[in-house]
Amino acid sequence: MTGEFPFRNLPQRHSMALIVQKYGGTSVGTIERIENVADKVIGWRERGHQIVVVVSAMSGETDRLIGLAKGITPRPNPREMDVLLATGEQVTIALLCIALEKRGCPARSYTGSQVRILTDNAFNKARIEDVEVAAMRDDLNHGRIIVVAGFQGVDKDGNITTLGRGGSDTTGVALAAALKADECQIYTDVDGVYTTDPRVVPDARRLDRITFEEMLEMASLGSKVLQIRSVEFAGKHNVPLRVLSTFQEGPGTLITFEEAFEAESMEKELISGIAFNRDEAKLTVLGVPDRPGIAYSILGPVSAANIEVDMIIQNISHDGTTDFTFTVHRNDYERTLEILKEHACALGAREVSGDLKIAKLSLVGIGMRSHAGVASRMFGALAKEGINIRMISTSEIKISVVVDEKYLELGVRALHEAFELDKAA
Ligand code: ASP
Ligand code: MG
Repeated sequence: MTGEFPFRNLPQRHSMALIVQKYGGTSVGTIERIENVADKVIGWRERGHQIVVVVSAMSGETDRLIGLAKGITPRPNPREMDVLLATGEQVTIALLCIALEKRGCPARSYTGSQVRILTDNAFNKARIEDVEVAAMRDDLNHGRIIVVAGFQGVDKDGNITTLGRGGSDTTGVALAAALKADECQIYTDVDGVYTTDPRVVPDARRLDRITFEEMLEMASLGSKVLQIRSVEFAGKHNVPLRVLSTFQEGPGTLITFEEAFEAESMEKELISGIAFNRDEAKLTVLGVPDRPGIAYSILGPVSAANIEVDMIIQNISHDGTTDFTFTVHRNDYERTLEILKEHACALGAREVSGDLKIAKLSLVGIGMRSHAGVASRMFGALAKEGINIRMISTSEIKISVVVDEKYLELGVRALHEAFELDKAA
């Protein structure tokens, strides 16, 4: 690496930091790319830092393995699936160590169970309960690079487990938390977190920083840079998390605490980004009798069917009846409609209807907490484009609207412009 050291929160020189670096499937997708990762890792080590590396399987490998099992049966045994899927990451840890050793750099690979990343026994979606750090510390003290297989662990009975798709991010964060690392760096094929999807808004801007809270909103609303669980984990355990590109130099985006902004008296932007998703559908129950318990009677059967409800609106009643609208994931639309037809009609509802062609746009920003007028500026920008708002919901750091799907791109662009997100604060 050349030029100025852009990682302002890390020691600049002559001072050792412990850094956990996670490289995703694309970053280790070929032998050449694995060798490139080896060079990068050595670059960091030469600055005097201790490095723990977590790798994913080579890109496409996890899917390939799933395909093999599904070629035998549509519902393979979950325990055996984890034995199978864990092999993907075992390949990359060994190859990376071979590449590091070739360069004269002492390295040692660990599978999840060799570290002892202890998880519960929920195969295919296990949760990490504990990480043993003694052996890793010993290796670090001997100047070795440690390379750990992402996405996998072991339960208390010695069964191999995996953490769910994208789980290597969570392995990285869990190791960083257990080792009290200075930073967890997630290397991927994008160079950071953007104000919105650059495919929709070409002048979307990379954020230098974002808070955990904002990142969680952005991630759960559909910006799929990081596994959501890893962001929660990092926030809970105080691990500064950085998203950056394997293929491009640059500081990426640091995901951190609000206090960290204040400490550096960084200007906090009003809005950090715009998230959107097309995965929702809207259902409406018209003319139900307006009396206590009605929301419960309508939504109770829906949640009993394990369907998650997002936005909810109930109208003021005129003639003793009220209308009720809510959104669910698009995949749950048909079932929800069936449930409503059965239950709501029994409650005396006049009509049940729905709409699949909706999209949700959300403004996310810690800064809006202390500023009135964000909502009206948002609604004004949408109105100017003639976009009708179907539903609105707000939280402390987020305003979401539902609009017709065909206006999604237009709406995102209008909001990006109205809040001048292409310019840094
Ligand atoms: N290889 C696993 C997957 O594709 C885990 C990961 O890459 O994070 O989901
Ligand atoms: Mg990934």
